[in-house]
Amino acid sequence: MKRLLVVDDNEQNLYLLRVLLEGSGFEVAAAGNGAVALEMGRRDPPDMVITDVLMPVMDGFTLCRRWKADKRLTRIPFVFYTATYTDPKDEEFALNLGAEKFIVKPAEPERLVETLKDVYERFESGRLFPARPAEEDEQVYLREYNEALIRKLEDKMLQLEESNAKLNRTVAGLETEVARRHQAEVELRRLNEALEERVSERTAILTEMNQALEAFAFTVSHDLRTPLRVIQMLAESIEASQKIGDTPATILTAAKQMDQLIQDLLAYTRLNRANIRFEPVPLSSVLADCRARLRIPDGQLQVNEPLGKVLGDYLTLLQVVENLLSNAIKFTKPGELPRVRVWSNCDKDRIRLWVEDHGIGISDEDRERIFNVFERLHSPERYPGTGVGLAIVRKGVERLGGQVGLESKPGEGSRFWIDLPGAPSEGTSP
Ligand code: ADP
Repeated sequence: MKRLLVVDDNEQNLYLLRVLLEGSGFEVAAAGNGAVALEMGRRDPPDMVITDVLMPVMDGFTLCRRWKADKRLTRIPFVFYTATYTDPKDEEFALNLGAEKFIVKPAEPERLVETLKDVYERFESGRLFPARPAEEDEQVYLREYNEALIRKLEDKMLQLEESNAKLNRTVAGLETEVARRHQAEVELRRLNEALEERVSERTAILTEMNQALEAFAFTVSHDLRTPLRVIQMLAESIEASQKIGDTPATILTAAKQMDQLIQDLLAYTRLNRANIRFEPVPLSSVLADCRARLRIPDGQLQVNEPLGKVLGDYLTLLQVVENLLSNAIKFTKPGELPRVRVWSNCDKDRIRLWVEDHGIGISDEDRERIFNVFERLHSPERYPGTGVGLAIVRKGVERLGGQVGLESKPGEGSRFWIDLPGAPSEGTSP
């Protein structure tokens, strides 16, 4: 196997040449500059030398000159492998120093290997006459050497400037990329935060809904079981004693109460799922319908027309107003007849409908909770009911995009109001 001494100060070049040449069957020894190469050559002469020109400590020209001046080394083929651009004078100078070949980088890998093999074969077969250094006097040599080195250095400077410019461009590109990535990261973080916020908002809503659902389920089962227990108890007592008395009437009342509860609950839950159709609805029609359904005697309800038209769903409105009216009529003071007044007023594009009674009134601390399902302030004996009516009012009004509220004084009466979007081009007066 031919032993090649490769001389280059650039680690990367050395590595590439080693891979290429070893892959092509050479054994490779490497030196980082001329001085090292000379010492290695003297210690253990290789079969061929391939060297760069510009290197620290000792350049390729000086190495060639010393190599060829050394009797033990002079026959060994010496090849220059040098930078991109070179002046023909450099090649001439190198060959004058005794080099066998001058190859310009970057050569095709196969061509480089072929050239080296060719040089070596010619040398071995005796067809390569060992170059003999031209016999110039020292001064001529030094002048040519200086000129060659200056040319090389100028080349190198140019190369360095070019790679510097390239490096600057790369750095600028990298900076832009870094800024872009930073921006993307900031954006990603922002999106993540927004997402987390939404997730925790939803979680909070879900938790709240869950709690409401649990409370609702608890109350439902509790309230439904009360009449059921009465029915059970009475049925058992019938079975035990066979003394019927007024037991059937009590069973009937309990069963009716339970039926009413279930109906109200269904009406309430249906509100959640019902499709709401928004259309102009004259409030006076709603009032007339309610009056008929609740069979309110003429003297007990005063309606101040016109009430105006709202934008809403007729059946939902009917449920809402009917519950308000039935409460106004129901919660009268003992021994008094109901006196209910209904009117509306218009503010911009909203209509506020009022239902006023002169009943028992509601205290401030009870104002909020009466809108909850099954929330009642009185026993069913005094004022019958299921406690679902106002929950239906609130849910219905919310679904219509409105609001509900009240003004009240215990012992004097209450005024409930609902605010709803008015139907376009409608005006009302109190
Ligand atoms: P219900 O009428 O079936 O008892 P609601 O949900 O309609 O249930 O009302 C809840 C509670 O609010 C009533 O039990 C009552 O104590 C109080 N309430 C509602 N409307 C009036 C009113 N107009 N005057 C006095 N109290 C009322």
